[in-house]
Amino acid sequence: MTSTPPPPKPLEPVAAALAEGAPRRAVKRFRGLCEQGQVPCGSDDLPWLLKHLGKAETGKLIDAFATTRCFYCRGGLERCGDCDGRGYLEDAAACETCIGLGLARCDYCDGSGWVGISFVPDCLQMGVIIDRARHALRDIERITDELSQLPLDPNGPNALKHDAAILLRLNGLLGVLENDVLDAGQLNTHAHQSREHIEKLTQQWVITAVRTQHRMYDLLRRMELDAQATAEQAGDRPGARAIARGRAELYRRLRRTNGFEQTGLDHPYLRAAAAKLPPEIKDALNEI
Ligand SMILES: [Zn+2]
Ligand SMILES: [Zn+2]
Repeated sequence: MTSTPPPPKPLEPVAAALAEGAPRRAVKRFRGLCEQGQVPCGSDDLPWLLKHLGKAETGKLIDAFATTRCFYCRGGLERCGDCDGRGYLEDAAACETCIGLGLARCDYCDGSGWVGISFVPDCLQMGVIIDRARHALRDIERITDELSQLPLDPNGPNALKHDAAILLRLNGLLGVLENDVLDAGQLNTHAHQSREHIEKLTQQWVITAVRTQHRMYDLLRRMELDAQATAEQAGDRPGARAIARGRAELYRRLRRTNGFEQTGLDHPYLRAAAAKLPPEIKDALNEI
């Protein structure tokens, strides 16, 4: 068994924080070292870090940066300013910005909930991008597996709330993939990651995003049915009926959009990347 030699002196506090299971402290310390020029942190310096911190610890450091939260929101969402978090406007029409849910995605992180890539030292950026995508793909798979078990007709109390929470979660995960596609495209090729490899990964993220959107259309169908049922059951509460009708109308409209273009669920960079997929892949996706 080979063991990694002890890290050079400046890296010791980072290694210690990681060993103590304190990822936030490790992030702070490593950023400090980079800012002070005490360790090489350029885009080609990952091999240096792997050699001196070790593969496992470098992996932990990448994960610590990948899971550093956006400073401006909680989990990618914030109260919608257009409707004051109510989900509908003065005339009972559903709020488009937050798709009638009262929660809008954070502008800073595109709803991903993670800190922007510029916060991450250059040497770790590609690792962070790939790490975030890996987790997002895993979460999407888990959620869509669960969704495939649901009946089309929503039933039971809080069905709409339940579906809306899943829709927002999936949209946040699309935000992770969108940032990743954009960030990966802007990074220079690294000595250890070929451009071809990155393009292959990126394509996989875009394909997953399109598949995820299909599941979101299914969810919106359930939400529309649920809002319709709520409107019918509103009885002598015309206000509640109008709001539920407004919701049903919005969800129906969203389902008819192409990739949610120009709506609160739009991810323009993913949409542009999906448009550039090879025709045979696009055809296969359309058949799902
Ligand atoms: Zn709103
Ligand atoms: Zn945010």
